[in-house]
Amino acid sequence: MSKDLKRCPLCGAYATIKAYKTMGTNHNTFTLYCTNKECPIMLKDFGSVEEAIKKWNNRPLEDALIEKFRVYRQLMLLIN
Ligand SMILES: [Zn+2]
Repeated sequence: MSKDLKRCPLCGAYATIKAYKTMGTNHNTFTLYCTNKECPIMLKDFGSVEEAIKKWNNRPLEDALIEKFRVYRQLMLLIN
């Protein structure tokens, strides 16, 4: 589990990254899993951990909603 990873977009559980050896080579590929065993979310076959994290954390709609909520909360604090 990495603190750099956002929570699962489907169920909110933590995510983890596992490395897999590619048969017959010294290469690893990296797969991201949701740690909730009942959740089907998985992103696979990344060439590096950094690439996997970047893809997992790329959520422009979620980020925009969080920013709108942050602004809304600040406005509510000003009004009340
Ligand atoms: Zn999940």
